[in-house]
Amino acid sequence: MSGVLAGRNAPDYSASWPSTRITKVTYPATPGETNPRSGRSPRYERSAVIDLEAIRHNVRRLVAVASPAKVMAVVKADAYGHGAVPVARAALEAGAKWLGVAHISEALALRAAGIDAPLLAWLHTQDSNFGAAVAAGIDIGCSGWELERIVAAARDQQRPARVHLKVDTGLGRNGATTQMWDALVGEAMEYQDEGLLRVVGIFSHLAVADEPHRPETDQQLATFREVLAAAEDAGVDLEVRHLANTPAALSRPDTHFDLVRVGLGVYGLSPFAGQSSAELGLRPAMTLRTEVSQCKEVQADQGVSYGLHYRTAAQGTLALIPLGYADGVPRIATGGPVRIAGRTYPVVGRIAMDQMVIDLGPDNAEIEPISGGAEAVLFGDGADGGPTVDDWALAAGTINYEVVTRISPRVPRQYVNEQASPDSGATMVRA
Ligand SMILES: *Cc1c(COP(=O)(O)O)cnc(C)c1O
Repeated sequence: MSGVLAGRNAPDYSASWPSTRITKVTYPATPGETNPRSGRSPRYERSAVIDLEAIRHNVRRLVAVASPAKVMAVVKADAYGHGAVPVARAALEAGAKWLGVAHISEALALRAAGIDAPLLAWLHTQDSNFGAAVAAGIDIGCSGWELERIVAAARDQQRPARVHLKVDTGLGRNGATTQMWDALVGEAMEYQDEGLLRVVGIFSHLAVADEPHRPETDQQLATFREVLAAAEDAGVDLEVRHLANTPAALSRPDTHFDLVRVGLGVYGLSPFAGQSSAELGLRPAMTLRTEVSQCKEVQADQGVSYGLHYRTAAQGTLALIPLGYADGVPRIATGGPVRIAGRTYPVVGRIAMDQMVIDLGPDNAEIEPISGGAEAVLFGDGADGGPTVDDWALAAGTINYEVVTRISPRVPRQYVNEQASPDSGATMVRA
């Protein structure tokens, strides 16, 4: 057989080869399966590798920063693309006391997985299932309009709802306005007296905490203190007051109150434009990697991908990377970095639905030739000088939050370090 079809490029349609089985398109991955050819742990042709030890490390760091306030790990949107259930478990192991999500449906999925930690859901619609939330012991964020529905659900379930009243201190999204506040607190307290609910929390969300020099955070903080005082005057007896997100948890101890709601930091990413994860003591938990599909020699002036917006400068090699916008790689991010064999190459031409191309350039005797099967990393923890989520955010004109959150379900999540190592310090934090 000629070289191109020999060896590891030979066709293999074996149904037991994990990375080609259709069931592997869903996640989480089944642990413990081995590659039948090598006998080694599963090898995925494409995966988002989630390092659960990095999650635990980040949570321990946030627990230390927030102390004596407690940590709520925000695991909405499938834990920002990392997988809600494994991340929630790792976060709780590392000392998070609460979990937070946007939708009741997300909270119910955590309960269905057997997670019984305190859990808050804060974004609702007319059709949200408050009854299921009350039945499952899920705390409900309430901006005002939901109150009647929550009370009806509590009557139905014959169980008081646990409610966190949300105030809009300036973000202009959900939350009661300060004008509505006293009326909302009054109404909630009447229902509390009837045994239909308990107001256990008051919270608000910050608008500009990622820009620590801006004065609006001080204004939001002052407003939050005022509404807390008003609620306490009305006899509210709270378990938790909470305001801070990741940037505020890291930069504004005066916003911590009893609980900080941290999302981005749990995943090891920096919310600040001028500060890296490492500078904040955080470790990015997701590595997006695949293997080169194919390498081929082309002539100078070869057009690349739809629109032919890129042409090779000289005779050389193009490498095909089997990830595209259907996998969540932003289509606009031409130029984004791909690391192969210790070197970083920019994506050239348009990113397509399933694939994209990098130009390895003319054959270079000084570097080891790259061939199909070579590991290709779009982003990882950056520790080896390799590309990071922030590089892709820059290439796409967006923020790191969006890049990880939009990695699609077609990319299997592969979990590493599922067991906490005994010397990791987790037990120390729990004590
Ligand atoms: C998403 C969210 C958070 C977490 O924000 P990060 O910046 O990721 O820490 C906290 N609170 C609310 C209300 C949120 O919607």
